Amino acid sequence: MSYQVFCKIKSGKRVLISFCAFPIKDQKGKIIGISKIAKDISDEKEEAKKQSILAAIITSSEDVIVSKTLNGIITSWNNSARKMFGYTEKEVLGKHISIIIPKDRPDEEKKIIDSIKKGKRINHFETERIAKDGSKKFISLTVSPIKNSKGKIIGASKVARDISVRLETERERDLYTKRLQELNKYKDEFMVMTSHELKTPLTVIMANLHVLSEVMAEEDYNTVFIKNSVRQVEKLSDLVNDLLDVSKIVAGKLALNFTLFDLRDLVYEVVNNLQQITKSHTIVFNKNTNILMVNADRERIGQVIINILGNAIKYSRKQGKIVVNAFEKEGDVEVNVTDQGIGIPPKDITNIFLRFYRVSGSASSFSGSGIGLYISSEIIKGHSGKIWAESKVGKGSVFHFSLPVANK
Ligand code: ADP
Repeated sequence: MSYQVFCKIKSGKRVLISFCAFPIKDQKGKIIGISKIAKDISDEKEEAKKQSILAAIITSSEDVIVSKTLNGIITSWNNSARKMFGYTEKEVLGKHISIIIPKDRPDEEKKIIDSIKKGKRINHFETERIAKDGSKKFISLTVSPIKNSKGKIIGASKVARDISVRLETERERDLYTKRLQELNKYKDEFMVMTSHELKTPLTVIMANLHVLSEVMAEEDYNTVFIKNSVRQVEKLSDLVNDLLDVSKIVAGKLALNFTLFDLRDLVYEVVNNLQQITKSHTIVFNKNTNILMVNADRERIGQVIINILGNAIKYSRKQGKIVVNAFEKEGDVEVNVTDQGIGIPPKDITNIFLRFYRVSGSASSFSGSGIGLYISSEIIKGHSGKIWAESKVGKGSVFHFSLPVANK
């Protein structure tokens, strides 16, 4: 006869004791006493309790959990495995794991087992399996060795997660990205094609306007219309040229023609040219500094200065003074342009160098396309230089760019 009782031992701890009682008989078979064997089974009970909790966790886990021997024979199969693959535990226990492995992956199981035998765990291996109804399941698999109490590897446990939804989302995202790239390419090609096509008629219109203005008498009232038309055609050609530059930058084909020159001369030239056509503003530039030799594309750097100065004039309609400086600083040649215009809010100060970016609010009442500073920053980048701006709304802005000084 055996029974179990909780006892309190000397230390005060409660332990579970299993008793086995045997009768003690004399020579005539008469019971004369009882012998008892007592065993502390608290640890065994605790272990059994833990095992049943673990089994419950595995059974109800949202992840597919399957175990198998080193020969690939399935030894456990939880509810999620049944739901994913359609086989009941009864149908698969004792069967080889290959029943869910696609035929076109014959070596996969061997590779997994070889790793497990070496004690190596396989983490988040993405693969596919076949369900009972023949459907494909995309899974992320983690396989770990199972060891016995002596530490010997006796099998493998597999935890699998269904990644079909994620893969489908990724597939859709890839398709979408590809489509966007294609559309973007068409847009760029369209931009190049239209800009080229616009250039020829614009040149012809401009040439005709010049001829007309030459044959027309100075006092003829109609010269006003010609001058207006020339200004608008010039604006249009600037825009077309900018668009062509943008398409060259996007295609990585903005060619730079490097020559050695004194940057002070270029700044002086641009300032003088602009001053001649700008009556509203005074542009101050002190050329009397040391020579500022740079190895750069003169025309393109001229374009950057025109753009920055043009903006300084445009965005400071009422304030007439613009100051330009050029100097050498820490191995670089720096040019800066200060205006007293509308200024730029801090949140926009770095974005203004992005393609088609224009500041909203009062700045949007000025005409523009938001590509001048983008082209300028790409030109400066192409020279391993830097371009940046500082500004205070309502007070004005300072635009800077720097280029490496040429080796003398
Ligand atoms: P846009 O043709 O619009 O002038 P840019 O690329 O040259 O294009 O400039 C981008 C934006 O940066 C402008 O739309 C304007 O909001 C702002 N910006 C540029 N220069 C100035 C300046 N000197 N003062 C105030 N805002 C400026």
